[in-house]
Amino acid sequence: MKVGVFIERDGVLNQALVERSHQVSPLSLGHFKINPAAPALVRKLKQAGFVVIATTNQPGLSRGYQSRRALDQMHALLMKEVPLDDILLCPHDETDHCPCRKPKPGLLTEARYKWQLDLDRSFVISNKWYDADAALAVGATSLLINSPWLGNAHHDLIVSDFAAAVKKLLQLHANPAATLA
Ligand SMILES: [Zn+2]
Repeated sequence: MKVGVFIERDGVLNQALVERSHQVSPLSLGHFKINPAAPALVRKLKQAGFVVIATTNQPGLSRGYQSRRALDQMHALLMKEVPLDDILLCPHDETDHCPCRKPKPGLLTEARYKWQLDLDRSFVISNKWYDADAALAVGATSLLINSPWLGNAHHDLIVSDFAAAVKKLLQLHANPAATLA
């Protein structure tokens, strides 16, 4: 089985937009700015043999303020610039009570079947608490990038930025017996 790295889209792969201290998703290609560090960091993960998958909650699709066409344009650009294997998204609102809206782990379990992944050995990189919760639910290891959105939820490691997350992940993968400290 292969090992996956799941990366939160907003704030990690593309720059976060912040409105009134909340992080919001860009709604059009013009506002979608890829993190300049992302292509090389994802390439490093690919070279190490990981399946690299972006995950994202996009409730604007269900609520009607995110157009599917604009989202497809943003994701086509993301796949072109960053060597990801896949982008998995939850289009639902919390009132839909779906199994895929993070912190629920539905996107991770979907990827397990689609990509034949060993989730126990897989990793999640995010700047938000809900990805650490999803990781915990399936036995994956979470690396959280310091941000205002970490909350007090469970996490395995907190790192300073995306590059530090990739460095630490490669160390852990090479030596799983190492402590998480
Ligand atoms: Zn969903």
